[in-house]
Amino acid sequence: MQTATTLDMLRNAQAGLRAGGGSVALVPTMGALHEGHLTLVREARKACDHVIASIFVNPTQFGPNEDLDAYPRQLAEDSAMLEAEGVALLWAPGVEAMYPSGFVTSISVSGVSDNFCGAARPGHFDGVATVVCKLFNQVMPDKAFFGEKDYQQLAVIRAMARDLDLTRPHVQDIIGVPTVREADGLAMSSRNRYLSPEDRANAAALPREMKAAIAAIEAGADVGNALATLERRLVEGGFASVDYAALADAQSLAPLTSLPPAPARLLVAARIGGTRLIDNMAVG
Ligand code: AMP
Repeated sequence: MQTATTLDMLRNAQAGLRAGGGSVALVPTMGALHEGHLTLVREARKACDHVIASIFVNPTQFGPNEDLDAYPRQLAEDSAMLEAEGVALLWAPGVEAMYPSGFVTSISVSGVSDNFCGAARPGHFDGVATVVCKLFNQVMPDKAFFGEKDYQQLAVIRAMARDLDLTRPHVQDIIGVPTVREADGLAMSSRNRYLSPEDRANAAALPREMKAAIAAIEAGADVGNALATLERRLVEGGFASVDYAALADAQSLAPLTSLPPAPARLLVAARIGGTRLIDNMAVG
């Protein structure tokens, strides 16, 4: 596996990779890799001849009081994991390579980014859309792989690719991969390592109570009541607070107050012991 930390290195390594032909997949990450990330890499390997993974803790998607400095960084360990998975090239730029001084551009996707994490984390999705657009332009992959774990992020990236007529990758080649979970149902996340043993045990209430809420909604319960019960049970189960618990249209992410015939999604963000966890599941 080659590693590039500057754009020149990336271009040289890519020229070598593409000289032999074959398709290229991109798997963007912020590192601190776990089985969720590695599942994206495995799906990418199945679909394309070469996989390029990126590791970049993107400062512009963190708010002023968020965990940018504390975010786990373990490049050597991550690099070994990616190499073992058959990744051809690791793109691990420094902040200066990504945002040289004088950088002034931002991509803002309205609609799908308005609610939920977009409302709770102002500017977050502008940072995501901008850095992912840059990664697409730098790597020009045939396909790009993202986790459904960050469901709203996936919707934002698809809307950006569609609206800006991106061709490498085309919107249809932005592949969503189902969320990989721990044995007790908790969605894998780099942030799970912040949890104390007690909070980690209590965190399993999130997927468990989401499933209970979905069962109630699908059985005809009032959506507002089901969501209120979900929030109450999370707090009773050890969560400090719930940023949002919402039912939304699975495509547009428009909030819903009743279960429609079209696919819907339950989206939740909740805080436990200072850590903010997000999860989402299909409804209906
Ligand atoms: P991150 O490093 O958290 O920015 O995540 C990088 C990519 O991995 C994103 O597309 C995430 O949605 C995806 N991802 C993170 N956790 C999981 C998971 N538990 N299952 C599937 N994909 C995931």
